[in-house]
Amino acid sequence: MTKQNLKHLSLATRAIHGKHHPGVRGPVTTPIYQTSTYRLQDSSDAIRYSKGDPNVLVYTRYHNPTVNEAEDRIALIEDGEAAALFSSGMAAISTAILSLCKSGDEIVSTPALYGGTYRFFRDTLPDYGINVKYVDPHSLEDLLYLITPKTKVVYFETPTNPTLTLVDIEKLVRNTRRVQKEFRAPITVIIDNTFATILNQKPFNLGVDIIMESTTKYLGGHADIMGGVIIGTKRNVKRVKNLAKHLGGCMDPFAAFLLDRSLKTFELRVERQNDNAMALARALSKHPKISCVLYPGLPSHPQHKLAKRQMRKFGAMVTIEVKGGVKAAVRVCDHLRVAVNAMSLGGVETLVSIPVYSSHINMTKDELATHGVTPGMIRISVGVEGIDDLIEDFRQALRKL
Ligand SMILES: *Cc1c(COP(=O)(O)O)cnc(C)c1O
Repeated sequence: MTKQNLKHLSLATRAIHGKHHPGVRGPVTTPIYQTSTYRLQDSSDAIRYSKGDPNVLVYTRYHNPTVNEAEDRIALIEDGEAAALFSSGMAAISTAILSLCKSGDEIVSTPALYGGTYRFFRDTLPDYGINVKYVDPHSLEDLLYLITPKTKVVYFETPTNPTLTLVDIEKLVRNTRRVQKEFRAPITVIIDNTFATILNQKPFNLGVDIIMESTTKYLGGHADIMGGVIIGTKRNVKRVKNLAKHLGGCMDPFAAFLLDRSLKTFELRVERQNDNAMALARALSKHPKISCVLYPGLPSHPQHKLAKRQMRKFGAMVTIEVKGGVKAAVRVCDHLRVAVNAMSLGGVETLVSIPVYSSHINMTKDELATHGVTPGMIRISVGVEGIDDLIEDFRQALRKL
């Protein structure tokens, strides 16, 4: 991995700007190359392209300067060699998995996954002959026998949705490498780092191979674009990009422009969101109508020690459980005036959602129990609002119970 040692991520703006479009005297912002194709100077360009010259642009599904600039900036921010952007987080996940696994291969994962990923693993991958096995995040020793010579990928996320349970990244990587050595088979460790973001958690430092993030969330940060990214070594990213040409889930130049714009305030936003989440979690943790506040930054969190070890700050996702079940949860959500009742997360507005009606819809009682989800839970994606307004908003909504 490249070690850029940026003290502040905003410096990445200067470091990358202009690399993919000409002119030192050009615009301060990155132009949108809103084009599907590129005019060749003459047929010698076509000949150069056919010989593999990467500097000849021919088609936006393969390369686009606006998209490439955002990719390079994310790679720099995340301390990876390269990055590949996709039309959504799910496009990034599915393309990465299919580029690494073929029929007969296996994936080992933790069961608490983003709903879309969980369903992709459960409903789609078996049709392609790819089997997924699950390790309990609290007993990562089991990796030692779950991994077989067929295992190509170990895939996980931390903190998890919506219970904010942590996976010990260092231990997961250590156990994976132990078995890998025995089998002499390459295993790619992939983390979905969407919830923590690189500002709070640096998986490459702990030996993870590929970072995946839904850029729809904190990197985009304004609830106005869809996107996903894969970050890793040049070799790994190239492999994913090659399959992306076939599967076609490339990022649109306009979305890349908005994403690139968002990256300039990424540190500011997430820093504020971290602090707001900590303050809100603290304020609600003693509320008489709340039975439980789940937040890795609270000493009451069962994995608080681990959180302090592998995270810098603790992110902006807070889950509360109100007394009175799903009816009480609905009532609170319907009386909020600052926080918005909407799915998704990571934007500047605080959003709330009820897991049994959103991410964990249509799951059996057993599945809900496995995921630790209860009907009274409200998941809060904390935004950048004034913290006093936010705390008072939840207090007045809880008074309606
Ligand atoms: C949203 C999300 C995804 C999927 O991303 P999309 O951009 O919605 O396709 C994957 N993982 C996590 C943790 C997410 O929150």
